[in-house]
Amino acid sequence: MKEGIHPKYEEVDVRCACGNTFKTSSTTCQPIQTDICSACHPFYTGKQKFVDAAGRVEKFKKKFGGNYFKNSASTTKK
Ligand SMILES: [Zn+2]
Repeated sequence: MKEGIHPKYEEVDVRCACGNTFKTSSTTCQPIQTDICSACHPFYTGKQKFVDAAGRVEKFKKKFGGNYFKNSASTTKK
């Protein structure tokens, strides 16, 4: 490998919302918090599961709820 052009690539811990943890390698070099992994994803478990990825709906409401569209409407209207 050429010197000085590659980011740091180290082993990191991945912690899933289901409680599963495993190691992978990443250039973030920091622990990764994930919502879904191979141990709990329906594709691998073969079971149907309602996946609300850790409050994604709440995040959407927080970002786009309230007066988000009111503000954008007033700024685009000329
Ligand atoms: Zn999981």
